[in-house]
Amino acid sequence: MWIRTLSMNECTEVLAGHHLARLACAKDGHPYVVPIYYAYADNALYCFSIPGKKIDWMRANPLVSVLVESPLRRRQWKSVIADGRYEELPERIGHKRQRDHAWSLLSTHTDWWEPGALKPVTPPLADDARHIFFRIVIEEVSGREAKE
Ligand SMILES: Cc1cc2nc3c(=O)[nH]c(=O)nc-3n(C[C@H](O)[C@H](O)[C@H](O)COP(=O)(O)OP(=O)(O)OC[C@H]3O[C@@H](n4cnc5c(N)ncnc54)[C@H](O)[C@@H]3O)c2cc1C
Repeated sequence: MWIRTLSMNECTEVLAGHHLARLACAKDGHPYVVPIYYAYADNALYCFSIPGKKIDWMRANPLVSVLVESPLRRRQWKSVIADGRYEELPERIGHKRQRDHAWSLLSTHTDWWEPGALKPVTPPLADDARHIFFRIVIEEVSGREAKE
């Protein structure tokens, strides 16, 4: 097996070609990582969630890291790490266009909202303020590929 560095274009291809990421955030010196769906556009990953630990932590510290993997076989894969900044897209004047943009990107997938909206104990979702759209604006990206 050998490993090579992916070019910027190849990293973008991996990000644009997948929808599942591992999102890592940190607060008070503690790390926290969750799987999350995203849609890639404009050098950012657009996501949907309801309130919870990751949102609280990213509001407190917007610096995050995201891993996207393209595993083919144990010895053949691509992986991309994108470091970036959490930006919430609130339902307020000035953000509506970006929020609608996030909605339209994410809603190209069936049941796109479900993993982000359900929890073991899910509070009532009547209040739209609980629907959080956010994006991770990518500041640095790196990628590697393993091949036989
Ligand atoms: C394939 C996949 C796609 C997903 N897509 C999305 C998405 O698009 N948007 C989204 O918001 N969520 C998504 N989820 C769920 C996500 O991984 C979290 O479980 C969820 O968002 C709750 O996170 P939270 O920080 O609000 O946790 P909270 O509900 O605040 O719970 C906090 C505690 O619960 C535990 N916990 C939370 N999530 C998990 C987990 N996944 N596994 C084990 N323990 C956990 C942790 O110990 C954490 O300390 C997806 C999960 C999977 C597997």
